[in-house]
Amino acid sequence: MDSIFDYMEHYDYENVLLCQDRNLDFKAIIAVHDTTLGPATGGCRMWKYENEMDAIEDALRLAKGMTYKYAAAGVNLGGGKAVIIGDPGRKDREYVLRLLGKFINRLGGKYITGEDVGTTLKDMEYIRMETEHVVTLPSYLGGAGDIAPMTAFGVVRAMQACCKRVYGDENLEGKMVAVQGLGAVGHNAVEQLHALGVKLVVSDIDSGKVNAMVAKYGVETTDPDAIYDAACDIFCPCALGGILNDDTLNRLRCRIICGSANNQLKEERHGNLLEEKGMVYAPDYIANAGGTIYDTDRLGSGGANNERGKEKVSRIYENMEKVFEIADRDTIPTYLAADRMAEERIHQVAQVKRYMDERRP
Ligand code: NAD
Repeated sequence: MDSIFDYMEHYDYENVLLCQDRNLDFKAIIAVHDTTLGPATGGCRMWKYENEMDAIEDALRLAKGMTYKYAAAGVNLGGGKAVIIGDPGRKDREYVLRLLGKFINRLGGKYITGEDVGTTLKDMEYIRMETEHVVTLPSYLGGAGDIAPMTAFGVVRAMQACCKRVYGDENLEGKMVAVQGLGAVGHNAVEQLHALGVKLVVSDIDSGKVNAMVAKYGVETTDPDAIYDAACDIFCPCALGGILNDDTLNRLRCRIICGSANNQLKEERHGNLLEEKGMVYAPDYIANAGGTIYDTDRLGSGGANNERGKEKVSRIYENMEKVFEIADRDTIPTYLAADRMAEERIHQVAQVKRYMDERRP
């Protein structure tokens, strides 16, 4: 990135706030990408970066990703992100996070924060001491608590929509699913898929997690690298990004790729390549939106309601159907169709807002 303004102009960012306090060794960035649909919302990442420009670019890139995620999910929120530059293991968390809370509060609700890489639910409690504009919270503070089961549920709904497209029937029973990664989302996905009569082959670099799944559900296992060669109908990546690349696309033997991992395509061209190979890809930010949808459901709707939240997550099935419709309409791969779906919604809501503004007495 040569110039922050060039970058902001190119991708149409609204604001970037740089925050510092030298006594606390605190440097943070709050990026607001687009507030057409609602307040810019997105987690707070705490990470070490090579240099400050890398941190700013990461905040900007992640904020834009959140705009698309909410827009495509049908949620009335915009995209934002906060980045604290520093070791995610730093011990002075209370002060650092409360200070970030103060800066967030100054924005008066234009940005709402949450948990992300390097921050925890406990950290959100510190931020909550200084501002109400934080969404991810434990249930005893009015939040949704652990959202991973809902992320997994959304992945399962996306998988059902993919099955309908490929096999003409959404039923997952008897299908073989290869799950990569048995962490917060992966183990919940295994549990839910097992309950639906799915056959499973799993992998994780942590053998303790693999053994636990074997003991509980009698699943098959593979070495971490061999999961790409496993005979299966559906590959469900729930660990790392960049796993759809030149090497793995030559090895995968599935018809469907649908999982929770972020940034699954190593490069955009891999999204074209997998379609050429006849595979159906559930764009990551559509399939993994369940936790986010559930988490933010209470905003503006009078508090948490599990049933309503789950119903909204379930609509990921319909979101996937819309992605397929756009892909067919415009003859484009699904990853591009997802972006187009998000952009069309933002554009149309902007039109509605303009119409209302013009007619305001
Ligand atoms: P997690 O850290 O709890 O679990 C990741 C698991 O992947 C761990 O068990 C780890 O041992 C395993 N792993 C790492 N490298 C591996 C490899 N090479 N092969 C097999 N397993 C490997 O993370 P999570 O919260 O379950 O998230 C999983 C993915 O989904 C991440 O990409 C995350 O960004 C994305 N995601 C998570 C959520 C959520 O609600 N937690 C929401 C949206 C997206």
